[in-house]
Amino acid sequence: MQAKGQAVMDYDYLVIGAGISGSAAAYELAAFGTVALIEAESTPGYHSTGRSAALFTPNYGVATVRRINKTSQAFFLNPPDEFCDRPLLTQRGMLTVAAPGEEDLLAPILDLSTDGYEIRKLDAAGTLSLAPLLRRERVAASAFESDVMDIDVASLHQGFLRGIRRRGGLVLSGKRITKLDRRAA
Ligand SMILES: Cc1cc2nc3c(=O)[nH]c(=O)nc-3n(C[C@H](O)[C@H](O)[C@H](O)COP(=O)(O)OP(=O)(O)OC[C@H]3O[C@@H](n4cnc5c(N)ncnc54)[C@H](O)[C@@H]3O)c2cc1C
Repeated sequence: MQAKGQAVMDYDYLVIGAGISGSAAAYELAAFGTVALIEAESTPGYHSTGRSAALFTPNYGVATVRRINKTSQAFFLNPPDEFCDRPLLTQRGMLTVAAPGEEDLLAPILDLSTDGYEIRKLDAAGTLSLAPLLRRERVAASAFESDVMDIDVASLHQGFLRGIRRRGGLVLSGKRITKLDRRAA
C-alpha cells in the first residue's frame, strides 16, 4: 500500500471503509495478520454507521441475516476484556402499532416471530399500558418484540478501532482508495 508521498507498506489485509462493517472485519483479521483499515472521510463512522437508529433486532431481515443477528448477540453481551467499559446492549423492546382498520398489517410482522425471540400481539389495552402517551382512539392492536435492544454503536465502533490498533493494525482516515492493483507476492 502506498499513499501519496509515503513509503510503500506491506500488509496482509487491506480493508476499505472504516464504518462498522470494515472496522469489525479489520478487528477480526488483525488476529491473523497485519491489517490496514483505510477510510476516505476525515473520521471513521461518518456515513451509515453514524446514522443508525442503533436497534438490535434479532428477527430483522432474511433468514441468513437473522442467523447472523442471533449469533452476534453473544459477542455483544459478552465482549472480550478491554473491548469497552459499558454494556453494548440495553433492553428496549419495540412496538409496531396498528390503528383501527389496520390490524391485518401486523400479520407479516407477527410471522417473523421465532422460538426464544417471540413477537406477541397485544390488544389496545396492552398496547396502551406500554405506551400510555398514544391517543386511545388511534390504537387497535400492536406487535411487541421484547428482545429488541439498543446498541451502543459508538462504543462498539470504538471498541473495534481500539482493538485493531492494540493488535498492531493501522487505521488511516482521510485517504480514499481510488485504485487497486493485484501483484504477485
Ligand atoms: C437511518 C438509518 C437507520 C438505521 N438503523 C439501524 C438499526 O436500528 N439497527 C441496525 O443494525 N442497523 C441500522 N442501520 C443500518 C446500519 O447503520 C448499516 O448497516 C451500517 O452502519 C453499515 O455499515 P458499513 O460499515 O457497511 O457502512 P458505512 O458506515 O457507510 O461505512 C462505509 C465506509 O466506507 C468508506 N468508503 C467508501 N468508499 C471508500 C473508498 N474508496 N476508500 C476509502 N473509504 C471508502 C465510507 O466513507 C464509509 O465511512 C440504519 C441505517 C440508517 C441509514
